[in-house]
Amino acid sequence: MSTKLHVLIIGGGIGGLTLAQSLRKQGVTFEVFEQDTSTTSRGYGFALGLYDPDTLFGDALPDDLPKLRDAAGHLTPLPLASQAVFYMGPKKFMLEDSTETPCLRVNRLKLRELLATGIDVQWGKEADRIEEDDDKVTAFFKDGTSATGDVLIGTDGVHSSVRPHVLKKPNSEVLELSPNVIVVGETKLRGKEFEQQLQMGHSCYMTFGPGFSLFVGLNRVSEDSKEGDYYWLMAGNDDTVGQDDHWAKTATAEERLKWALAKVQVFPPPFRKTLEKTKAEDVKGNIVWHDALIPSTPAVSRVAILGDAAHPMPPARGEGAIHAIQDAIKLSKIISAADKTDFASFKEKLNEWQQEVVATGHESILAGRRVLEFAKKAAAAAAAAAAGGGPPGGAGGPPGGVPGSAGAGGPPGGAGGPPGGGFRPPPPKCWGHSTKMVDELPPLGITIAED
Ligand SMILES: Cc1cc2nc3c(=O)[nH]c(=O)nc-3n(C[C@H](O)[C@H](O)[C@H](O)COP(=O)(O)OP(=O)(O)OC[C@H]3O[C@@H](n4cnc5c(N)ncnc54)[C@H](O)[C@@H]3O)c2cc1C
Repeated sequence: MSTKLHVLIIGGGIGGLTLAQSLRKQGVTFEVFEQDTSTTSRGYGFALGLYDPDTLFGDALPDDLPKLRDAAGHLTPLPLASQAVFYMGPKKFMLEDSTETPCLRVNRLKLRELLATGIDVQWGKEADRIEEDDDKVTAFFKDGTSATGDVLIGTDGVHSSVRPHVLKKPNSEVLELSPNVIVVGETKLRGKEFEQQLQMGHSCYMTFGPGFSLFVGLNRVSEDSKEGDYYWLMAGNDDTVGQDDHWAKTATAEERLKWALAKVQVFPPPFRKTLEKTKAEDVKGNIVWHDALIPSTPAVSRVAILGDAAHPMPPARGEGAIHAIQDAIKLSKIISAADKTDFASFKEKLNEWQQEVVATGHESILAGRRVLEFAKKAAAAAAAAAAGGGPPGGAGGPPGGVPGSAGAGGPPGGAGGPPGGGFRPPPPKCWGHSTKMVDELPPLGITIAED
């Protein structure tokens, strides 16, 4: 009889599926439970940036998976490298995929589909509560079913149902609201309009206006290469966003779009294009960001957490998925080496890993908060410039990251350090770790055909 552990994975997102694949490769049995009813049931978000993806995944994925760059790259079929551009007033900072700065922007849905290859995900299973004893752990689902294993890993994201079991307190005592009004919209651009946006940044670009930042990203390209699915995200600095009667909580899609459109009028037309082409029905509902400064966890035994469940962070540096993948691969090796007959030594290693995961995440959360502060200053500088008749956008270098993509790799180590002190590993390299200032962007080198 096998003495390997049987693993329950709660959450079939990036971290959960990476863990599943890595366990599959190492011959460990597992079950994945996901509340969504299919890969596509939630729309599943947009694109995300991975820094040095080949090193990140290493040899963790089984050989029957399609190649990451071919299967999930968001620019496919266009022959363009992933590229992000920060427009900081008159300055431009760029990151482009190259041997020196290997980075890839992937379509989230394609990444999820790739990571789900060969995994029998149990869709429509929303975990509700967990019970553990000396011999086993059981997850109970909202549909009345349950599953039992030797160890349970919560990979169920920001609003994790497993975190309260591990931290022994509710999420409401842990999660903190980011002080931003966030409006997100989607549109499609064809032909020359698409070409113009690609020229401004193949993958995405970010800029700052009075009191807000604007991120515009390409999600995917049509098969005939003539059309791009775009999304944009405007974050307006607002310390009152948590108030019960805040306008953003009840605003209609039309009102959100109007709010965003009024703000982008300070920019030249190409920066306004995606917003101006967006229909109200393609503006998302109320979106808020949460993070949580969890300094450490109580001792864990059969239940642990990784990814956003362990370190929910603002998307400012674009590195949450990188953490989730790293956490999962490391954990899979600990689980694979474990033996049921010596659970005590597994427990010790699981605890070390859990503390390290939380501590590393903690550093990134602090770094992410510093980036949001930077963005706030850049937006205030833009406001001052607008009042004085100057060009919009702040002065100075790029922020340490943008929502959904790049980051200049803000300083490692925490300003103020986490409670409890001690060694804190630096955050991993995030997507835009090595942006460089450029006078002109390189020519696109391709044309997008009109119909
Ligand atoms: C706007 C934005 C842009 C971002 N851009 C980047 C980027 O460029 N680079 C980067 O590295 N990171 C980026 N991130 C962060 C990244 O998306 C997350 O850190 C990453 O998805 C975390 O992976 P995860 O597996 O922990 O959680 P998720 O990928 O969120 O997966 C959690 C899964 O658990 C499921 N689930 C939740 N509750 C339950 C339950 N009770 N029972 C069963 N299933 C459940 C959910 O449905 C979901 O599928 C961005 C985030 C945002 C918001």
